Order: sequence, then structure tokens, then C-alpha cells
Amino acid sequence: MAVRNIRQLGDSILAKKCREIKEITPRLRELINDMKDTMYDANGVGLAAPQVGVLKCVVVIDVGDGPIVLINPRMLESNGEQTGEEGCLSVPGKYGIVTRPMYVKIEAWDENMERIVVEGEELLARAICHEMEHLEGHTYVEKVEDGLHDVEEEA
Ligand code: ZN
Repeated sequence: MAVRNIRQLGDSILAKKCREIKEITPRLRELINDMKDTMYDANGVGLAAPQVGVLKCVVVIDVGDGPIVLINPRMLESNGEQTGEEGCLSVPGKYGIVTRPMYVKIEAWDENMERIVVEGEELLARAICHEMEHLEGHTYVEKVEDGLHDVEEEA
């Protein structure tokens, strides 16, 4: 288990575009495993490589159905609309209201560089869009509709 340090909003690496991945290397496998560990350790539903300081096109997502690894993800189709709360491990203690597609269909490559097509609705669609934006150097705070709010701590 290797939990990596999560870069926080304001870190310039979060504003940079990621590079496409050409092949699976032992180093990339290690990165992906560490990203899963880091996401679960922080109780997140998704994590993109730049959040651990690596400018490569890979994200991990788990909305409760097990981990999904997406290498070089590309949007094929999106439909509908959902407006709801969103947060980010790089912006701890905050949330904002963001409108996203209700349904997305993407293509990506898995940990064995096999092409996969993933369809997602609701939270999975939201997570896919959120993580794909990180690979382009964008964060959800650019899209929030009425500012960032503090997460109420339960007493
Ligand atoms: Zn995020």
C-alpha cells in the first residue's frame, strides 16, 4: 500500500494538460496501484494522475461497484443533464453545485492496454466527467454555479 500525497488546488500541476500513455510499464502499474490506494485512503470516488503529481492520462474511479481504470479516456457520447453537489480530493472540505451530463459513453484503455467502452449514468457519469477534466488541466471549481461551500462537519 502506497498512499501518495494529493496535490491541492493552487498547485500549478493541476492546471497542466496530461500526456497520452503509449504503453504499460512497471512504473505505470505502480502509479495506478498507488492511485487506487490513495483514492480509497481519502474516501474519494475518483482520482486523476495529476492529483498525485503525474501528468499522464490515467484516472481511477470507484463509485461503489469496484475500481475502474481509464487510460487515455475519450468522450464518445453524452446525454441529458444532472445538477448536484460535487467535491474533489484536491479541494478538501468544500463542495459546489455543478451541472453534468446524466449519461456518458467513453472509450479508454484498461490496465492491459485493451480498449474498453464504458457507459455511466448519474454518479458514474459525473465522476468520469470530473476526472477527465483533470487530465485537461481543469477542476470543477471553474464550473460551480454558486460558489464553493464548506462541508458541514457532523458533530
Ligand atoms: Zn477532482
